[in-house]
Amino acid sequence: MKIEQLLIASHNQGKIDEIKKMLAPYGVRVVSARDMNLPDVEETGTTFRENAELKATQLSEISGLPCLADDSGLCVDALSGRPGVYSARYAEREENGKVIRDFDQAMERLIAELQASGSNDWSAHFSCVLAFKIPGQDCRFFEGRVNGKIVAERSGDKGFGFDPVFMPDGFDKTFGHFDKDEKAAVSHRGRAFAQFIEKEFAAAK
Ligand code: IMP
Repeated sequence: MKIEQLLIASHNQGKIDEIKKMLAPYGVRVVSARDMNLPDVEETGTTFRENAELKATQLSEISGLPCLADDSGLCVDALSGRPGVYSARYAEREENGKVIRDFDQAMERLIAELQASGSNDWSAHFSCVLAFKIPGQDCRFFEGRVNGKIVAERSGDKGFGFDPVFMPDGFDKTFGHFDKDEKAAVSHRGRAFAQFIEKEFAAAK
């Protein structure tokens, strides 16, 4: 089935920009939950897959559109996989009675936790699960992962979230120095997307 319009179940502009860029060659009209002023879906699941399914299913129902949801996070070995599925919440704090996400503070906290852990193995990976829901059909899933390590010095001002402290294996720079295309070629989201595009778009082209 050729997909004409696709809803991205996200309000995170960094993610939306990455996703729009990856889908640009496929002639699909991409709108985001943010563009459509749709509500934030509460992430009550305990795995990336559960949360991705919740978001794709609920927003596809509300909008009537095929919907793609991504749930992702940073898993740090020495912290038993934390913050993991709670990565976005790890960055939350209150300011003037409102909850905001502060990644400068989150990166500082992460490094402090790693220093306190006493471990000198700062291995970590980003994981991403995509859930794709076409109204009336079962959700389909695509997964990607990138291994690397956390570095003590933040570096680079590109990307978003934890990018300035994550150095992927095989590189001597953090994701904070990667352009969108370069990041998509190796990232968890890029890898999950490559499978999604291969199965849902390239075949239907
Ligand atoms: P989600 O919106 O619940 O999937 O939250 C994912 C969170 O994981 C983001 O808010 C970031 O904290 C983190 N994260 C996921 N992917 C990336 C990435 O590519 N770079 C940096 N941080 C990421």
